Amino acid sequence: MNLVPSSTNSSLDSPTSGSSITNNGSGSGSASGSGSSTPTSSRYENQKRRDWNTFCQYLRNHRPPLSLALCSGSHVLEFLNYLDQFGKTKVHNHPCPFFGIPNPPAPCPCPLRQAWGSLDALIGRLRAAYEENGGRPETNPFGSRSVRIYLRDVRDYQAKARGVSYEKKRKRPKPKVTAPTTDG
Ligand SMILES: [Zn+2]
Repeated sequence: MNLVPSSTNSSLDSPTSGSSITNNGSGSGSASGSGSSTPTSSRYENQKRRDWNTFCQYLRNHRPPLSLALCSGSHVLEFLNYLDQFGKTKVHNHPCPFFGIPNPPAPCPCPLRQAWGSLDALIGRLRAAYEENGGRPETNPFGSRSVRIYLRDVRDYQAKARGVSYEKKRKRPKPKVTAPTTDG
């Protein structure tokens, strides 16, 4: 008879791998918000509400004070930069020897950032939440051009720095383009 060690209880639902942008820990609970307890079914809705609360809290703490109506794309970029301090994704800088290496063999002092995928999903949720909370689509700061350009730049840079590709996988044969090397 073999005694099987209790290794069968592998936790399948690891809590929010990667994209956890939660911002709790300021004081002892919010005193406001009594009554509105709408039961949300999906995880997406919960996450969306949490993200929205985080953003509203960010606005409340903003100096100088900033209201949602005055919020522009540049403020959204500020918010995204602010979130980077909570990031968990290593993004190598240019002089780092591991720049462009997907699985670096050793640690390096490069900063941790929010992964592009997290930011992209976050902006999508906040964009929806903004309009659900009465914002007009024409003035949605999360859909502004500057935010879109920023996200694209983040994607391109992180793809290079981390040596990963964010291209969607398509069934397409890779065209073999051999760049002519100039002598030098
Ligand atoms: Zn590095």
